[in-house]
Amino acid sequence: MARKPFIAGNWKMNLNHLEAIALVQKIAFALPEKYYAKVDVAVLPPFTDIRSVQTLVDGDKLSLTYGAQDLSPHDSGAYTGDVSGAMLAKLGCSYVTVGHSERREYHGESDELVNKKVKAALKHGITPILCVGEKLEVREAGEHLHHTTAQLMEGLKGLKAEQVKDVVVAYEPVWAIGTGKVASSSDAEEVCREIRVPLREKYGEEVASSVRVLYGGSVKSGNISELVAATNIDGALVGGASLDADEFTKLCALAA
Ligand code: PEP
Repeated sequence: MARKPFIAGNWKMNLNHLEAIALVQKIAFALPEKYYAKVDVAVLPPFTDIRSVQTLVDGDKLSLTYGAQDLSPHDSGAYTGDVSGAMLAKLGCSYVTVGHSERREYHGESDELVNKKVKAALKHGITPILCVGEKLEVREAGEHLHHTTAQLMEGLKGLKAEQVKDVVVAYEPVWAIGTGKVASSSDAEEVCREIRVPLREKYGEEVASSVRVLYGGSVKSGNISELVAATNIDGALVGGASLDADEFTKLCALAA
């Protein structure tokens, strides 16, 4: 089954709202609308920039989509500092990253919490980008395939096949994030291929072959072509390189 490539730019905790507006404007000029027939593109700003991005996307009827970097597992209530899926849906968010390794590491997010967040996103019609991937010591121990697929299946626990179809998976080896050490395309392909194995076993061939699996970890315009040429890599979750409009749009055009 042909899967449309998808590039998502994770801005992390960067850019104020003026910088966010400038970046989206530059992306809009540098990536002509015709590209969106061949590649889906999203930006994932900090919560405080989402409204600014929404105004530009809606006002100019851009095909660029946007989302958030996290959400609460709850819909509303006494959860100081949290932002719910209902709130993100109201802001027109199409995507939300869930279980990014920085959330797992700095906020102690467990697979159980990640699973609740995946469900919360789907409940509000937002596509979760479920991030999975191993730390260096796990790879060195040769446990990366088992570790990553176990994380994936925990994150999807309790979902029906038709819900899993709506999930995007991002394989992000922790040792490659923000380090400049990109996984080789064959290493990334090995894991992205393996990710489809339990999906096939549990949810069937249609789901396994339709779920988009992204690679993330030091992706740039210089390495995207080789990555997306691999059969099971359907695009990228891009951190650092998504903050530079020229680099990001070049990368998106190469993935198209
Ligand atoms: C990320 O934040 O998900 C990421 C992959 O970052 P970078 O591209 O900077 O490695």
